[in-house]
Amino acid sequence: MGKLQINKLSKSFGNKAVLDKVTFSVNEGEFVSILGPSGSGKSTLFHLIGGISVPDEGDIYLDGDLINGKRGAISYTPQAPSLLPWRTILQNVLLGAEISGKKNEQDALDMIERAGLGGYEKAYPHELSGGMKQRAAFIRSLLSPQSLICLDEPFSALDEFTRLDMQKWLLSIWESYKRSILFVTHNIEEAIYLSDRIIVLAANPATVKREFTIPFERPRDKNLLLKQDFLQWKKAIIKELSWE
Ligand code: ADP
Ligand code: MG
Repeated sequence: MGKLQINKLSKSFGNKAVLDKVTFSVNEGEFVSILGPSGSGKSTLFHLIGGISVPDEGDIYLDGDLINGKRGAISYTPQAPSLLPWRTILQNVLLGAEISGKKNEQDALDMIERAGLGGYEKAYPHELSGGMKQRAAFIRSLLSPQSLICLDEPFSALDEFTRLDMQKWLLSIWESYKRSILFVTHNIEEAIYLSDRIIVLAANPATVKREFTIPFERPRDKNLLLKQDFLQWKKAIIKELSWE
């Protein structure tokens, strides 16, 4: 479960082509990042996968079912996390599970604790920092029943220290929950550190420029960021992203 297949997806706004025949896949339990510059169409791609808008051309399959324009098939956390201000943190993280009728409060409490949010179960979103809200939004995704989780630049607003902690936390959670993750970022190091595979987009309009399979074994830790092999990968990808 959680296999995504994107076939020749195209989308224009007026006469501006944003996506042009974008094709890639995410396998069961795989962590795949979409890496591309700002404005290259990453969020647009996610809106299509989330069923918030429909493609002009192309198909989106989840576990063999066509999901073009279908909402709720995947768990989607938008670029700005959207906790409901009138619900407590516990009520917020249970939202997706509640809609599907598969609410498990004990799981939610355990994950809140693991995310370092213990004691904030009854707090409201405005009482939390940006990083804490982001973690709460993740927990909500992880507790939702969907087999594929899509995260749109979840760490781009965080400072470097918080970002590293959050990346490590996301990896540790993902390693024990093993869902498929499609992750959007414009940060090269982040993509290498987290992913099994990286899809590099070229912009205007977005096309798949190249795919990289990242061989580093798991579990990964922050020391990886300083290794020579890691820097080699970074160089190779920077080369791919720059215009020649
Ligand atoms: P990214 O997430 O990679 O930064 P986006 O997908 O948000 O990029 O945007 C890609 C391009 O599509 C931008 O030029 C943006 O202005 C345009 N765009 C996105 N959504 C709309 C929309 N609803 N109407 C018109 N243009 C849009
Ligand atoms: Mg975006």
